[in-house]
Amino acid sequence: MHVPGLLARLKERIRGREQRLVRAGAEMPLLLVSFPRGAGAAASELERAYVHALPASKPETRELYRDLWGALPAIIVVQLRDRNPCGCLGHHHPPGAESRVARRLASELGHPVAEIDLAYESIRAWRPEPLASLAAGEAPDRLEPLRFRAALLAVLLHEMEHLAFPERSEQEILGRSRDFYRRLMSEWVGDELGKDYGIA
Ligand SMILES: [Zn+2]
Ligand SMILES: [Zn+2]
Repeated sequence: MHVPGLLARLKERIRGREQRLVRAGAEMPLLLVSFPRGAGAAASELERAYVHALPASKPETRELYRDLWGALPAIIVVQLRDRNPCGCLGHHHPPGAESRVARRLASELGHPVAEIDLAYESIRAWRPEPLASLAAGEAPDRLEPLRFRAALLAVLLHEMEHLAFPERSEQEILGRSRDFYRRLMSEWVGDELGKDYGIA
């Protein structure tokens, strides 16, 4: 008998999960990051990206999500897992579909708590723009961490936008994600590798 995802969930339950509170700018929601024991490095990467890299990015990059912060609840539970059984990079959990953790937290705090899951190994392997990677092809080791950081942020903000604006279409939200990822990468590749991203 094979039940997709069951073995992974069972292993995760045996190993246990850890939680970390991630606090960025006052206007940005607090993240309660829940991750399997052993995935501390991925949780730290998400924390650095959200707390430092995003606020330090150029105004024209951050401007894409200017209207996001005011439309989200103050707390978002982020469930990290290595992969999703369905293969998706992440999901937002619409009201009523949150995990027990998020529901319990919301009732304890008496405040709405939103929830997102992110599949960090799938996000690490994600290649949104294969041609553009050629531009910095000589430095794959230095490019990889930048890609992972940009992809984590892009997927996190993509799912946040679904939560904040349920009426917006996937096409619109995806278009913004692609723009955001491209702008972040061009900024970081330019700063850190001294190369133009996407123009080989
Ligand atoms: Zn899915
Ligand atoms: Zn989407």
